[in-house]
Amino acid sequence: MVCKGICIRHKAQKLPGLGRYAIGQRRCQICEIFMVWNSSFCPCCGYKLRTKPRNMNYEVKLRIRNKTNNAMKNSVPFQNQFVLDVV
Ligand SMILES: [Zn+2]
Ligand SMILES: [Zn+2]
Repeated sequence: MVCKGICIRHKAQKLPGLGRYAIGQRRCQICEIFMVWNSSFCPCCGYKLRTKPRNMNYEVKLRIRNKTNNAMKNSVPFQNQFVLDVV
């Protein structure tokens, strides 16, 4: 079970606001990489791929944190407007 560098070709892109497992990406513990791959086994090292997060709560927490970040981003133009009104 060694990484041969093949997994790089299947490397999955990170999509903000979406759980990697939720959109079908799989993680290889040996290559330490997320992949877009239909088989349950790594095309690179042959190790069984992880298709679910180790801890569901972690994924949920992550989603909540992303929502909070979005809310903060949305509030920025509002603050700018407030400053303009004062000036
Ligand atoms: Zn690999
Ligand atoms: Zn692998």
